[in-house]
Amino acid sequence: MKKLFGVIGLGRFGGSICKELSKEGKEVLALDADEDKVNEYKEIATHAVIADSTDELALKELGFRNIDHVIVAIGDNVHASILTTLILKEFGVKRITVKAQNDYHEKVLQKIGADEIVHPERDMGKRIAHSIISSNVLDY
Ligand code: ATP
Repeated sequence: MKKLFGVIGLGRFGGSICKELSKEGKEVLALDADEDKVNEYKEIATHAVIADSTDELALKELGFRNIDHVIVAIGDNVHASILTTLILKEFGVKRITVKAQNDYHEKVLQKIGADEIVHPERDMGKRIAHSIISSNVLDY
């Protein structure tokens, strides 16, 4: 059966994940509390829905229990990110990737069992620094 992905939070990070997965032909259920964001992804994702991801009943009704891999891409609202991850964990979602805002956020996410924790800005900064170093090595 085809693997199902869920993307919660359609900011720059979540939006970009949603676009890439969709471009690769994956089935994506995109969710955001903001109607404008959801409208932007209506034609891109398989389904795009307006909902508050901290509403357990809403996630249940949307079928998040049956999604294989969910990416929680809520940034500023650490509380919402943690609660959403906890709900998904309790649903038994097989794989949960979460964007962390800071080290404390990461610690909590680890404790509640997030499978993968990412810091996009930090990780990209590291990669760019290394690529600057290696291009300088070739230059001199
Ligand atoms: P980015 O850097 O990826 O643009 P960000 O780190 O600034 O984003 P936010 O803009 O805070 O993150 O959140 C990303 C998206 O998550 C927003 O579009 C916001 O509407 C959505 N969001 C925040 N809380 C919830 C929630 N409880 N339920 C659903 N969507 C939410």
